[in-house]
Amino acid sequence: MEAVIIVEVFKCSVAMYGVKYHQLIGDEDSSVMRQLDKAKRYVVLRKTLSDRLQHFRCAITRAIRYRESQVGINEEQHIRELCTDFQNGPFHVFGDHSKCPARGYFCNGFRSGNECIIPNVKSVGKWDEIMPANDILSHNSESLLKNMTKDRA
Ligand SMILES: [Zn+2]
Repeated sequence: MEAVIIVEVFKCSVAMYGVKYHQLIGDEDSSVMRQLDKAKRYVVLRKTLSDRLQHFRCAITRAIRYRESQVGINEEQHIRELCTDFQNGPFHVFGDHSKCPARGYFCNGFRSGNECIIPNVKSVGKWDEIMPANDILSHNSESLLKNMTKDRA
């Protein structure tokens, strides 16, 4: 509890008081220091996370449109392919393109200027928030596909 309160005070110090900390002295073994370090890494990563999550939102829409318009496969295959696209989505967006070429339409496995930041995302705890949300998205592939089809009619 102490760590949470102190981290919150540090997070809003600039916005509320115009105070920017230059140096922090503390016990390296304390939970407060670990939480502050995690919060600091998150602040550094926040803009990149925001940009990539915006990209992810666009990628979701494009994947639905692509799978909806894909010819030569049945509805069940459309749903399964879209679900697999969604499962790969966070990896692609955060720079691990190892599974992208197998998806076959949006990424050849290399993106200049899109280095893998998954370890950074995990280190600030955001990966554990993104993946369950992505699981919900994947489980709703069928309804997303059908809604997209219905909206276009
Ligand atoms: Zn990719």
